[in-house]
Amino acid sequence: MGKEDECEAPQFTIEQFYRFLSEKKLMAARCIKCGTKYLPPRPICSNCYSRSLDWIQLETRGKLITYTIIHVAPPRLQSLVPYAYGILELEDGLRLPGMIRGIPDNEIRIGMELEVTFESAASEDWPKWPMYYFKPPR
Ligand SMILES: [Zn+2]
Repeated sequence: MGKEDECEAPQFTIEQFYRFLSEKKLMAARCIKCGTKYLPPRPICSNCYSRSLDWIQLETRGKLITYTIIHVAPPRLQSLVPYAYGILELEDGLRLPGMIRGIPDNEIRIGMELEVTFESAASEDWPKWPMYYFKPPR
């Protein structure tokens, strides 16, 4: 209950989420009271309104639930077009959007297993540059 407890866990912010990504960790927030998990993390549980949350590390494999081929991208990604961008369903139904690489566009299938792969941080772009992408597991 003391101040020490509150200071232990890093803040439940997008910035901290990206900081973990730069350490090659896929982290979500979990409500200590009701167990609901949040990705991206949030500081208050929207299920029970508790502020008692914990960071948990997620498995990096998931199932592709939807994707699209991007032809017109934000300027810094324009050199990569066309590229595939999809949503991966991770454990407990958590969903993570990201770029799909390492597989030809015409071989991408809804429902296929993909793995979150971490990139080393492009520091000048932090924190906007997504430091992960999805690829087929080896
Ligand atoms: Zn809760």
